[in-house]
Amino acid sequence: PAKPIFSGQLPPGLQTISNIVAVSSCKGGVGKSTVAVNLAYTLADMGARVGIFDADVYGPSLPTMVSPENRLLEMNPEKRTIIPTEYLGVKLVSFGFAGQGRAIMRGPMVSGVINQLLTTTEWGELDYLVIDMPPGTGDIQLTLCQVVPLTAAVIVTTPQKLAFIDVAKGVRMFSKLKVPCVAVVENMCHFDADGKRYYPFGRGSGSQVVQQFGIPRLFDLPIRPTLSASGDSGMPEVVADPQGEVAKTFQELGVCV
Ligand code: ADP
Repeated sequence: PAKPIFSGQLPPGLQTISNIVAVSSCKGGVGKSTVAVNLAYTLADMGARVGIFDADVYGPSLPTMVSPENRLLEMNPEKRTIIPTEYLGVKLVSFGFAGQGRAIMRGPMVSGVINQLLTTTEWGELDYLVIDMPPGTGDIQLTLCQVVPLTAAVIVTTPQKLAFIDVAKGVRMFSKLKVPCVAVVENMCHFDADGKRYYPFGRGSGSQVVQQFGIPRLFDLPIRPTLSASGDSGMPEVVADPQGEVAKTFQELGVCV
């Protein structure tokens, strides 16, 4: 039986958003936040009005990956809403901008915090809200998918065999929720050295995913020191090097979402 994509009423703060895109992975450390942030800044560069919601409450990466002047979310005390901070025209909300230390929380509390941040934020008119999902396909992710009507999902993985199993889980979750998986990003798939290309994790699992699950697009991202350095420096690679190879890949991904 068809399950509703999301339950309940659309919160007012989300009613002015045209597309809500989830960037998801089953494991931590595969580059999900890197993809979410670079995708968001690419969409902004293409002329869209964009916001990023960092839903990774346990390890928020957004405060490291971007450098807004104002590093604290503001409250509108009358309306009891949250006003996003901003960096280079992209609106940002992260638990890491909430002015608290990293929290020790149980799952239901995490869901509560995420839902509150997401639904009480005054996003304003946006063409895209990119959600950096918490890693995994458990309760927290499911609840989030039920609070917001996602229009598309991008799954990030690395090329190992094991990662294939994880992607399958992610695809199944989104298909149950009737959210189209528009692309898989295979991150850290190769690196170039001494004029040669190396595939440290092997090859082929990405195309297997695409064939088996009928996902329209597969993108490869190489291991690049600049991707890691730009992540740490607070300026996304696509902003630092808008003509580069990585920026081109993200432009193609931007068209898919
Ligand atoms: P996740 O959100 O899945 O936990 P991150 O995006 O935070 O992963 O990436 C983990 C670390 O790996 C970060 O330090 C990031 O800069 C680095 N990283 C991600 N992708 C690449 C890449 N293709 N090349 C080099 N470093 C990368």
